[in-house]
Amino acid sequence: MAKSFSLNMYPWIYIAKFSDNRWMEKYVEQPHKTPEEEVSMSEEDMMELLLKRNTIPGIPVITYTSQYGMGCFEGLKAFPQPNGSIKIFRPDENGKRFKASMEGVYMPGFPVEKFVESVKSVIRKNADIGFTTKYDKTWEKDNFLSGTAMYLRPFAITEPGIGVNVSSSPWVITVATPVGAYFESGSSGAVTTERVRANPKGTGCLKVNSNYVISACAKHEAMQAGFMEAVFLDAEEKKYLEEGSSSNIFCYLKNGTLVTPNLGDTILPGITRKSILKLAQDMGIKTEERKISIDEAMSDSLEMFVSGTAAGIAFIDSMQHKGKKVIFNNGKMGNVATKLLAKLKGIQYGMEEDKYGWMFEI
Ligand SMILES: *Cc1c(COP(=O)(O)O)cnc(C)c1O
Repeated sequence: MAKSFSLNMYPWIYIAKFSDNRWMEKYVEQPHKTPEEEVSMSEEDMMELLLKRNTIPGIPVITYTSQYGMGCFEGLKAFPQPNGSIKIFRPDENGKRFKASMEGVYMPGFPVEKFVESVKSVIRKNADIGFTTKYDKTWEKDNFLSGTAMYLRPFAITEPGIGVNVSSSPWVITVATPVGAYFESGSSGAVTTERVRANPKGTGCLKVNSNYVISACAKHEAMQAGFMEAVFLDAEEKKYLEEGSSSNIFCYLKNGTLVTPNLGDTILPGITRKSILKLAQDMGIKTEERKISIDEAMSDSLEMFVSGTAAGIAFIDSMQHKGKKVIFNNGKMGNVATKLLAKLKGIQYGMEEDKYGWMFEI
């Protein structure tokens, strides 16, 4: 497979368009060969094929999305199960958040049932032609850290336009890609950034494209300085923890409490965040959603980690703020983060009972 080509979409995609007050829907099969033929293609031929597959005919380029960041997106995963089936993690929650993001920027909201159905159909249609993800027993040895999955990316883009405007007849497109294991390479150190991701009354609580420009810059700066993650503080007092660059943040304190910043208009309501809070409570861990200052987090945390669909849980081994650095748990992933991650991945890969009804069959 052409490793230098970072986008490797599965062939079947979903396209919906809002016009005349209703959603018109279709599924499109993008250019492909069989998975076996694609694996043995030359890098050059594969790049050419992927360029065609990653280009969607009939979709405009000059839009409020490409010019002004007026767009919304979601990210969710489908996991291969030991019995050969595939299950999706909480797609109803992503559907609700997608609708809220769209309506939050005055787009017509995409119905949650259509969202869930389109995600299921994209997985099914790709699996039918051999583009899928298969369970591997060896993943059990490292608690699924080496596990792969299918990543679904539904997104909303606007009609053509060049003046600043909101969208009244957007497209919703859902594509799928394979995702590999998420390995932290080297250090997983974090550093606070002086940049502000989200302002009160802004769009920080919506998954809208424009939010990610500042996150990408902050993360780039952190990585240039030798860190893995940038941590944002609040806009007003520059004192309270908000989020990682595209993930929610948790502190497990010396007093045995798991703390994460409370939701508001500057925090993205992560579905992994919500799931971790539930799992922790059911393990008998006290949880709090509240403001937590960077000073408290650095002096009182035994463990710190970030959460999101990409990694599930990624531990932070150290935190630097204004030149001062603290190392957590001797730089190793802590017990609480490890237990929560094992439970979450266990449910996702079908090894633990899904007693919350989080896993949807396709
Ligand atoms: C998507 C996202 C998250 C994580 O949300 P999940 O639903 O857990 O994937 C956290 N913060 C930001 C800014 C995000 O965009």
